[in-house]
Amino acid sequence: MTQTTPNHKLSVSGWAAHDSSGVITPYTFKRRVNGPEDVSIKILYCGICHTDIHHVKNDWGITKYPVVPGHEITGLITEVGKNVKGFAIGDRVGVGCLAASCLDCEFCNSDQENYCDEIQFTYNGIFWDGSITYGGYSEMLVADHRYVVQIPESLPMDATAPLLCAGITVYSPMIDCNLHNMTGMRIGIVGLGGLGHVAIKFGKAFGHYVTVISTSPSKEKEARERLGSDDFIVSTDIEQMKSKKRTLDFILDTVSAPHSLGPILDLLKVNGTLVLVGAPDKPVELPSFPLIFGKRVVKGSMTGGMKETQEMINFCGKHNITCDIEIVKSDKINEALTRLANNDVKYRFVIDIAGKSSSL
Ligand code: NAP
Ligand code: ZN
Repeated sequence: MTQTTPNHKLSVSGWAAHDSSGVITPYTFKRRVNGPEDVSIKILYCGICHTDIHHVKNDWGITKYPVVPGHEITGLITEVGKNVKGFAIGDRVGVGCLAASCLDCEFCNSDQENYCDEIQFTYNGIFWDGSITYGGYSEMLVADHRYVVQIPESLPMDATAPLLCAGITVYSPMIDCNLHNMTGMRIGIVGLGGLGHVAIKFGKAFGHYVTVISTSPSKEKEARERLGSDDFIVSTDIEQMKSKKRTLDFILDTVSAPHSLGPILDLLKVNGTLVLVGAPDKPVELPSFPLIFGKRVVKGSMTGGMKETQEMINFCGKHNITCDIEIVKSDKINEALTRLANNDVKYRFVIDIAGKSSSL
C-alpha cells in the first residue's frame, strides 16, 4: 500500500519486507511532516525483535505489506512540534511499540495506553490520519511525543535500544505481579532470547532467585556466569523438570514457538503465576490438570504503558542494565533475521542505522 495522505511529504530511506518470503530490501517511502504534537527523530539504532520476524513472515496473518519493521528505536530529536513540552532538539530518546491510542479511555487515563482498544503500533499500525505506520528500520521517524521516552545520559544508545520492547515487555508483568516490592522470590524465565536475557537482569536487580528454563543446554554457562542466573533447567530433560516441581513462585514465558504449558505449570508452587509474553503463531497447549491441582494462574501481558516505559528506562540507568547485543550494519539485516529465527544470537541484534559503529 502506498501513502496517499496529503501531509506525507517526507521522503525517507528504510528497509522493508514486501511479501511473506520475509526478505528485507531497501525501500523509500513517505512519512508525515512534523505536526504540532510530534517530534522528528534521527534514528541511530534499532533492535531486531522476534516480533519483526512474525510480521515479515506474516506468521500472525495481519501483515500489511510493505512492512518496515522495528520498534526498539533510539535516536536524537531533530525537530519539535509547537505543542510539545519536555523534549528539545538534540535530546536522546527512545520509541517502542506504541504509536497512538485513543487518549480518552480508562486505560489511556491510567497510564496503561498499551491496553487501549484503539492502540496502534509503531509499524503495521494505522495512525490517526489513516496512514500505515512504518517502523525503525529507517533513517528517521516522526512520532507523537506522548509515545517517546528520554534516555538517561548514562545509558549507551545501542545496547539500550532493545529495552524499548524487550525490556518493557518483561519489566511490566514483573511490576504488575509486585516483584519489585518483594525479595527472595523464586522466579523462572522460559526462553533465553532477547526478552529472556533482560528478564534475568530485572529479576536479579529486584533481588530474586532466578531460574532459566531453556531448550538450549549450550546457554547454561553464560546464563549463570555472565547474566547472573542462579539456576538453569533444560526443559527437554524430563528428569530435571520433575526434580524442580513446585519450586517457583512466578514464571515468565517468552517462547516464540508453540509449546505445552503443562510441564512449565508443574514447576510453579500452589497459587503460582505464569505470565505469557511470547506470542507463537499457533495456540499453546494449556492442560487443565496442572492448573487445577496447583490452583495456578495463567495470564498474558503486552508491552507496557509510556509512564512505565520511562520508569523502566530510568531504573536501567540507575542499575546499569543494558542488553547484550550484536551490532549489524543495515546490509546484514536478512542474515540477522535468519540467525534470530534459528535461535543463533546472544541475545539481541541491533541495527546500526546511522552507520556509526565500526564492527561487522
Ligand atoms: P527470541 O530472542 O527469538 O527468544 C525466544 C526464545 O524462545 C529463544 O531464544 C529460545 O530460548 C526459545 N525458543 C525458541 N524456539 C523454541 C521452541 N520451538 N520451543 C521452545 N523454546 C523455544 O525472541 P524474543 O525477541 O525474545 O521474543 C519472544 C517472543 O515474545 C516472540 O514471540 C515475540 O513476538 C514475543 N513478544 C511479545 C511481546 C509482548 O508485548 N507480549 C513483546 C515483544 C515480543 P532457549 O534457547 O533458551 O530455549
Ligand atoms: Zn518487540
